[in-house]
Amino acid sequence: MTQEIRLRFAPSPTGYFHVGGARTALYNWLIAKQQGGSFILRIDDTDEQRNRQEWTDGIISALAWLEIDFDEGPYFQSRRKDRYFQKARELYEKGLAYYCNCTRDEIDERAKLRGGPPGYDGFCRDRALTPEPGFALRFKVPPGETVVNDVVRGTVTFANSTIEDFVLLKGNGAALYVLANFVDDVDLNISHVIRAEEHLPTTPKAVLLYEALGVDSPIFAHLPVLVNEKRVKLSKRRDRVAVEDFRDQGFLPEAMVNYLALLGWSPGDDVEFLDREEMIELFDLTKVSKSPAFFDVVKMKHFNKHYIASLTLDDFVNRCLRFLEANSWWSGDGIQTANFRAIAPYVQERIALLSEVVEMVDFLFVDPAQLSLEAYILSEADLEALSRFLVKVEAEEDFARDVLEGHFRSLGEELGLVLRKLQAPIRLSLTGRKVGPPLFVAMEILGKERSLDRIRNAIATGH
Ligand code: GLU
Repeated sequence: MTQEIRLRFAPSPTGYFHVGGARTALYNWLIAKQQGGSFILRIDDTDEQRNRQEWTDGIISALAWLEIDFDEGPYFQSRRKDRYFQKARELYEKGLAYYCNCTRDEIDERAKLRGGPPGYDGFCRDRALTPEPGFALRFKVPPGETVVNDVVRGTVTFANSTIEDFVLLKGNGAALYVLANFVDDVDLNISHVIRAEEHLPTTPKAVLLYEALGVDSPIFAHLPVLVNEKRVKLSKRRDRVAVEDFRDQGFLPEAMVNYLALLGWSPGDDVEFLDREEMIELFDLTKVSKSPAFFDVVKMKHFNKHYIASLTLDDFVNRCLRFLEANSWWSGDGIQTANFRAIAPYVQERIALLSEVVEMVDFLFVDPAQLSLEAYILSEADLEALSRFLVKVEAEEDFARDVLEGHFRSLGEELGLVLRKLQAPIRLSLTGRKVGPPLFVAMEILGKERSLDRIRNAIATGH
């Protein structure tokens, strides 16, 4: 029978959902899609002290946002305790595990006396203790060595002498993580375990369990760590790497997914931009690198800019709404919507994050005098230029961008000013900002009355 292709993403809900988790989820999803398999979400909530419902909700909503959809689940480890217990007992009954009543202090004390490495010495292995409350159940690690065949890391061999008789069930009957993971992967008939590198050291324990019960191991792949600009492993606490934050800053999910796919993998030929279909077609686990991957927000922004620029106008406008709606000045009425739509193409080609849309367009909806911006003081020369520009455009019937630009250019010539210098005070008086969409487009959309009012106000107040 050929093995079904079944992959799982198995986060522990002990913190916010970060880019490392998203990359792991994505790689699993890509293989499932590519091979016509299933992608399963499993919530590894065995750590009752640290689990929180909000973290689980955050994972599920971030996956939905990234459009990494799962075919099955979420399954919860916390609901399967009996099953882990049952499997542990099976190991015990087969003579593959034994009960142990050593305390941590006793174990440490003996290790100290031994003078060797710390850890359990197999003290209870041959004592044939029968189960009693408070006794832990340990796996009897056989002699020899354990080989982990890892698609990314290659063949990694562990001497069994370095693996202590590890605990399967704690004294209170609770399953240890390695047992729960193993039982779930077997029960869910998982074909590939693709996860973060930090799990490689515990993988031989899982392999020992597979071997003990005569079940074929899944294919393992441990993904390289993500590092920050100092080449230090990304830390949830130190580095701001929550998927949710990136969403709130206005990253597009497709840009993030594309960028995340390249953290450890490349399609070759310097290709960087790939849509989902291309990623599914080209992704190759065997080409995933062992070396740490640099998570570069600047580069991800560059991807985002590319993706924003390639949206259709309708799509761009729709995706900006969320960011506009967060402002008290936005009512979303017909006039606002029309004004926004008129300026949108110019904004679309300029911004790298959707949140930047707000500063680009707020001048259309609120008087710059009311935007609490730092005050710009206009110089004598600026005021002179503004007054002369005002005279020219006041008389203008046709308030169209090229007409306005014509006046501006002729004023530049009259004053002998470079146009960039001349633009600055006009932009400031109209928008309150130093940068923004093309000035004469902005002015046309603002309309004659509002534009003139603002210029007059700037002249009167000096900023
Ligand atoms: N629950 C683990 C984590 O969040 C992943 C375990 C696994 O994929 O096997 O890091």
